[in-house]
Amino acid sequence: MSKLAAFGGTAAVPKHRRRSEWPLVEDDDRKAVITVLDGARLVSDTDGENPVAALEQDWARQFGYGHCVAVSNGTAALSLALSALGIGPGDEVIVPALSFIATGLAPVHQMAVPVFADIDPVTFNLDPDDLERRITARTAAIIPVHLHGAPADMDRIMAIAARHGIPVLEDAAQAPGATHRGRPVGSIGAAGVFSLQVSKNIPTCGEGGLLVTGDADLAAAMRRGRQFGEVIEAGRERDYVSYGLGWNHKMNGLQAAFTSSQLTRFEDYERARQANIGAFLARLAKLPGIQVPTALADTTHVWHILRFRFDPAAFGLDGVPPEALRSTLRRLLRAEGVPMSQYQLMPLPDQKVFVDRLGFGVGHHPWALTGAPGTVAGEGYPVTREVIADSLTIQKRHLHPEAGDLLALYADAFEKVWAAGDMVATLAKAAS
Ligand SMILES: *Cc1c(COP(=O)(O)O)cnc(C)c1O
Repeated sequence: MSKLAAFGGTAAVPKHRRRSEWPLVEDDDRKAVITVLDGARLVSDTDGENPVAALEQDWARQFGYGHCVAVSNGTAALSLALSALGIGPGDEVIVPALSFIATGLAPVHQMAVPVFADIDPVTFNLDPDDLERRITARTAAIIPVHLHGAPADMDRIMAIAARHGIPVLEDAAQAPGATHRGRPVGSIGAAGVFSLQVSKNIPTCGEGGLLVTGDADLAAAMRRGRQFGEVIEAGRERDYVSYGLGWNHKMNGLQAAFTSSQLTRFEDYERARQANIGAFLARLAKLPGIQVPTALADTTHVWHILRFRFDPAAFGLDGVPPEALRSTLRRLLRAEGVPMSQYQLMPLPDQKVFVDRLGFGVGHHPWALTGAPGTVAGEGYPVTREVIADSLTIQKRHLHPEAGDLLALYADAFEKVWAAGDMVATLAKAAS
């Protein structure tokens, strides 16, 4: 057994092998941006031929969406979608307790109360049973998140939503390219939202977001919302009339061109990633006490984030808190050169903004509108809490299409640490 790097041994991942860039910027991307910079159309305020309209068409064609509307970022996309769906004061919107904060904030911006539901322990996505328990007469939308790139259980979520007549908005920010029974995520509910933020699987050179829908009226409402409520159509002169409440959530042409260029390489990247990550996960799955990420049957997972759960019992640590094992493994694996980290330090309902109801005005709107109590830190959502307590993630490094060798070194590191299982157990006990 080789000596652990945490105790002076040689790291399984040598320092000079640790770099793995994401996003990957190539000459085509640079050229695409420069071409727009030297042209006349920097933003999407004119319809027809401009890089923003081109990205909308490219995205819709590549994945198979009816309509696509490009906006400034994924959070703005969530707001515009909720607005277009008519979500407003007094409504409740159900969102998963484990997600990025934006999913929980978007309803508040519509003066709607976010209602959190627990997650599935394997897919980390919205638990349909808990979702159904939380439906009330006020529930006006459901936002399943395809977290980490894994499609949520859309069969059951759509069936529940249909039974109650509630629209579904898919937060696919982490899942471009993922499919559910052959359909692209974002096309199953009434609308879907993507983020092109620089760390996501299909990035732009900064911030960007996209809305997709099969409904032409909804797409038109999102377009109006993007630009001051105005109607911008090819062949129609701009009349500067606001036909409804709008924002300025337009996308910049430089960012659109960058993403259109990235999109041409997506399939190649994706094929390479599936092979690299598949091989990596297969090695880790052989180790006792580790739950590797997995997708539901008949879906494709696009592995935006890799989350691993660790079982104290497998290390003979019954009764030891999972946090002790997690922090021990984090320290040992990081010393070996594997950048294990946490993604989400707490369930969304524990965030101060929801506990203290820090929405609008001194009256704590939107909660005060309905008398909703806000959430209580540390209470409820047992599965979300267990997952946060016993898991760690790998982010970004595995997204590079040539990360296969690096992932093999990561697997060496896991195997080395697992071979020192007695040491892991001793350290975890001491940490608890
Ligand atoms: C990144 C992300 C968002 C927000 O996207 P931005 O472009 O950063 O505003 C929303 N939901 C989820 C699940 C995300 O990961």
